[in-house]
Amino acid sequence: MNLATLIACATCGYALTEEHDGDDVIYRHPVSEDGRHQPAPIAASLLGDVYDRCHICSAGQPVWCYRTAELEAQGIGGSREIIQTYNTRWHVCLRCAQLIEADDPDGLTATSAAYMRWRPADPRYAILSMVHRAIVLTRESRRLLTTTDWPPAKLTPDMLPKIRDRLTGLLRGPADLAAPLHAPHTRRTLADELDRAPLYWVNQEFTDLTNEVTQDQPPAPVNDRIAPSPSGLLVWPQPVGANALATAISWTPQAHGWHMICYRSIGGGLADDLMPTLRHDIGWLVPIHSEHVARDATVDGNHPLGPLITCWLLMNQQMAETASATLPKAVTKAYQRRHGRAPDVRLVQIKPPCTTSTASPQGGGERTRATSAYRYWVSGHERNQAYGPGRRLRKRVTIEPFLKGPDDKPIKLSTTVRMLGRRQPSDGNDPG
Ligand SMILES: [Zn+2]
Ligand SMILES: [Zn+2]
Repeated sequence: MNLATLIACATCGYALTEEHDGDDVIYRHPVSEDGRHQPAPIAASLLGDVYDRCHICSAGQPVWCYRTAELEAQGIGGSREIIQTYNTRWHVCLRCAQLIEADDPDGLTATSAAYMRWRPADPRYAILSMVHRAIVLTRESRRLLTTTDWPPAKLTPDMLPKIRDRLTGLLRGPADLAAPLHAPHTRRTLADELDRAPLYWVNQEFTDLTNEVTQDQPPAPVNDRIAPSPSGLLVWPQPVGANALATAISWTPQAHGWHMICYRSIGGGLADDLMPTLRHDIGWLVPIHSEHVARDATVDGNHPLGPLITCWLLMNQQMAETASATLPKAVTKAYQRRHGRAPDVRLVQIKPPCTTSTASPQGGGERTRATSAYRYWVSGHERNQAYGPGRRLRKRVTIEPFLKGPDDKPIKLSTTVRMLGRRQPSDGNDPG
């Protein structure tokens, strides 16, 4: 399930708030619907200009959605009485959230009046102040927003233990999460699994390779043969994939498959004084896609999980080597104090070219054509492999998709060689 799609009103371009009523989602305009048109929900990416700002100060990027009681403001004076009904969902930036959490409604009013340039004598200031007081007093819960378009954060491998700890802290913490991650059992299981999971850092060279070949990766069955470990959190130095959103993907075992989650990194471009709160309350990663992947379900390179599966395939065919990372002593020691063991961080990097062996990556004895000008994907297939005395016996072996051709050659895109069971390896796999 995609969690990153911002929904906005096609008529006015305002980002809409979401309420879940069973399976139904109710979209509302921010702040109040009074006197407005009906919301016309549409993916914000289809609109040119979308207004997606903090509902309180109108300035910051929204981070939290606060739920409050229904607020009504009654305007007295003038020729007629005005009653305004407000939304029960408020998208709030980090700075305003800090003031709400500190029970400081006056701070909220001062911040937003300053942005509007309203003086305390302005009658509108009194209404603002009343609304802010009501938000602070009647707030029920807050949910982490997953639709805000953040500039990515700068990540390095020695940050991984902390990044994981903040993620498990978020899962175990009081904040509401998007529906597929919200159930207490789901959150607890995920956090427990992530605590044990190895952390993979993909180096720049291997990230570039992954980015280059992911799009063309043929459908690959997701199974234990290609998974480098039962669970894991894999992190790239910058966003990858077709829409360049995901910076990390986790997988944890679930009945008949895995729970896989894509995350974007957050905090790029945020004011320094807000960083400690962001890192403490949320951390570095915000989930943007959550999916149960059944064992042997196929995933191709255009799928949101494509970059992960491409990495797995390349690791499986031993194009990558995985080495334990040497972390700064302070990081290891702090981790040992808290968890009683050193963090398991593994570096995924391109394996130096092997000059002595020409065996195929699957070890199946299939010979590479003498010279190829390109590297290209070969689809997964099954074939009979000779074995035993005199190689007279045959057994069925499954070959996962793999990238073929010399390491120093460019990648031929849009060329997937499909090998069918009846074909001989030598008669149908010319990349052209
Ligand atoms: Zn509208
Ligand atoms: Zn704000």
